[in-house]
Amino acid sequence: MQAFAGLPQTGTLDPDTKQLFTKKRCGVKDIGTSSELARNRRYILQQAWTKQYISYRVVNGSSTLPKSRVEKWMAAGLEVWAPHGNLRFYPVDEGRADIQVTFFRGDHGDGYPFDGQGHVVAHAFPPPHGAMHFDDDELWGDNPEEDEEDVTDFFAVAVHEIGHALGLSHSNVKQSVMYPYYQVPVEKLHMDDILGMQELYLKDLEESTESPVDPTSLVPRFTKADSEEDEDYIPDLCLTNYDTLQVINDRIYVFEEEWVWVLRDRHEIEPGYPKRFQDVFQGLSAHITSIKTIYQKSNGNVVIFSDRDYWEFDSSFHFIKDSTISDYSIPEDVTELTTVFLSNFNNKTYLIEEERYWRYDEVTSTMDEGYPKDMTMWRQVPYPVNAALVWKNDTYFFQGPRFWRFDNVLVQAHEYYPLPTAQVWFNCKSNTEMDNYTFNDGP
Ligand SMILES: [Zn+2]
Ligand SMILES: [Zn+2]
Repeated sequence: MQAFAGLPQTGTLDPDTKQLFTKKRCGVKDIGTSSELARNRRYILQQAWTKQYISYRVVNGSSTLPKSRVEKWMAAGLEVWAPHGNLRFYPVDEGRADIQVTFFRGDHGDGYPFDGQGHVVAHAFPPPHGAMHFDDDELWGDNPEEDEEDVTDFFAVAVHEIGHALGLSHSNVKQSVMYPYYQVPVEKLHMDDILGMQELYLKDLEESTESPVDPTSLVPRFTKADSEEDEDYIPDLCLTNYDTLQVINDRIYVFEEEWVWVLRDRHEIEPGYPKRFQDVFQGLSAHITSIKTIYQKSNGNVVIFSDRDYWEFDSSFHFIKDSTISDYSIPEDVTELTTVFLSNFNNKTYLIEEERYWRYDEVTSTMDEGYPKDMTMWRQVPYPVNAALVWKNDTYFFQGPRFWRFDNVLVQAHEYYPLPTAQVWFNCKSNTEMDNYTFNDGP
């Protein structure tokens, strides 16, 4: 136990060790021999789920935390882990789910009775059992800022217990989520947690020679209730309801809802598209149902943004990492970036939030001074923009059905714009709106 907590292994009850006996902790036994620890194998594994799609069910809430809030934090906690095992989680309301979340008091029949308020606060079972039990004698809360010692933050404990339900055991790395003692706040996984997940879920995937099961045959689809019959509905690009466009690897990528089209040139859709972007960018969090902000860095890496999070892939779309836009020095009050692009004019990254933007230098990894600036700096360019991209050395801005070409020297849009996006980029037939535009040779 001392080895696990990272304390000197005295074998006696010194004050530090005594404190561990009273501290809030997970009830799962610390397994792993000291020789395993000495080999520096920090995370310890049980077995993994042998499927990608995993159901979960919140059976009840606690005396102090309603079921709806437990469900909300469970969903958030599962998403913390999902990308690192390429797993997808879906909630169910009844029946036996793979991961069942229940609050119990005292002896609840599984041989691991809870102990009243304090000390053991929860435990969970590895796959294929997957149950997560929380001690209802704790005062569960969901506002770690409150900093009340009696209150136990549900999310912090849930993220840890989910780790067990996915097959991880305790880690003796104090900064890891799988460290057995209660720590708040939990903000992200430690590399130790991530390595454990990769060994459990991603190693076999690479070695596996079996063709994967068609996921569409297994997944309950989260289509809106009123469109269940249209689950294979593919949007019409000509209606220009796209979420965003971006140039990646010299191809034009168009995103709308769950789909991505790839164009090798204007009007030329690559065969086989559209595809579901979740299949193209594997490792993206399952809760991402549309891509509105994406760009390619000067080193070729592709970054997808959602809220304050981003997911980074290499130029072949292998998942590298996920993190937050704090890495770009974007202030905390910004909840999401609407458009990001790399300028070929100065090789700087422009990060746009509706009506203002920042300029970031990837070479020095610093935000340029004097930002944010107002979008009105770019004369005759509309805002908010849906997309900004560089195609064949020209910068374009897109807003709904129209697009503008930008002159980097004059810092304004070319005068004969806007032009209609659908006809110029997507090979759609001319319509009456189209006739309102004067067409030029060089859009
Ligand atoms: Zn634990
Ligand atoms: Zn239990």
